[in-house]
Amino acid sequence: MRFSAVVLAGGAGKRFGGAKHSAILAGRPLFHWSLRLFQTHPDVGEIVLVLPEGEVADAGGLKALFSKIGAIVPGGPERTDSARSGVAAAKGEYVLIHDAARPLVSRGLVSRITDALGRHPAVAPAIPVRDTMKRARGEFLVGGIEREGLFRVQTPQGFKRELIAEAYGRASLAATDDTTLLEATLGVPSLLVPGEESNIKITVREDLGIADRLLGRRRTGFGWDAHPFRKGRPLILGGVELRSERGLLGHSDGDALCHAVIDALLGAAGLGDIGTHFPDTDPKYRGANSLSLLKETVALLEQKDFLAESLDATIIIAEPKLGPYINKMRDNLASAVGIDPELVSVKAKSGNRLGFAGEGRGCEVYAVAGVREMGIE
Ligand code: MG
Repeated sequence: MRFSAVVLAGGAGKRFGGAKHSAILAGRPLFHWSLRLFQTHPDVGEIVLVLPEGEVADAGGLKALFSKIGAIVPGGPERTDSARSGVAAAKGEYVLIHDAARPLVSRGLVSRITDALGRHPAVAPAIPVRDTMKRARGEFLVGGIEREGLFRVQTPQGFKRELIAEAYGRASLAATDDTTLLEATLGVPSLLVPGEESNIKITVREDLGIADRLLGRRRTGFGWDAHPFRKGRPLILGGVELRSERGLLGHSDGDALCHAVIDALLGAAGLGDIGTHFPDTDPKYRGANSLSLLKETVALLEQKDFLAESLDATIIIAEPKLGPYINKMRDNLASAVGIDPELVSVKAKSGNRLGFAGEGRGCEVYAVAGVREMGIE
């Protein structure tokens, strides 16, 4: 394996005021953004995730979302400790060490680093300082600092793994980045590749708003579905099997909630409809688990750089009462789509005996989905 990505999400977030890595950006915890990027980058063979010690034991479920995760290891008190622990768990010939606090890193930037590692064993992205640089003395700005030749250094930074591991072995100081550590311990400078203004570092809470505005435009989609009842069929909505003598007739499992949500998502992304992608003429989809079809839909959207960020659905069904099942439906949809359950809403109405659903002849579902068209890739 050539490239391991080491994602550092183990910091205490002192300046942020709490666990920064799990702050929500467009429906997802901050560190998921970097995981997603490395998961979809063709050069990256494995991801090593560094988390706060107390979170490692419960993090195994992340491997289902990001299959390239090879190891999840605990961080330390300083960034250098976390990076050292991540690099020690990596297997690649090269490591790309990345701060999860930079969620908007692009594929192009990662490619520039992997390419440059063929020429030099240490590579870092940086952007020239464009503002005038001054020092403050009390209330006043004094003394110019020569801006020429000054750069702001970003991550991911790429290194031959053995080289940076040796630097960690010798390091006694804590460094704010790995280029500094490498140069201080082994005297090896890092090759500069162009960084990106959009690759911002989330340090304080206001930075989340800036990151949100840098993401792509929002689009909304609408979906509708209806199925008639049949005796002896299981009644499945949002992947939950309800207690009922009758279920919904359909080629698949008849899960009208999932179907309406799938159509809403496809609609938001302009990618056709459920019939185009999962035709009911295809025997493959006979009795299909619609929650799995929803997951496939989300993967299809992600391939086209659309990310789901909110869902709202209304189910019209005369009976049974859905109250006891609503939270489970919501959790199922949230986990299939990969967003926080707080961004998913499922509501139920009896239909007041009006129309075929209100009269108890079937079930009808309306759904709206919000997606983000990723501007940064
Ligand atoms: Mg349907």
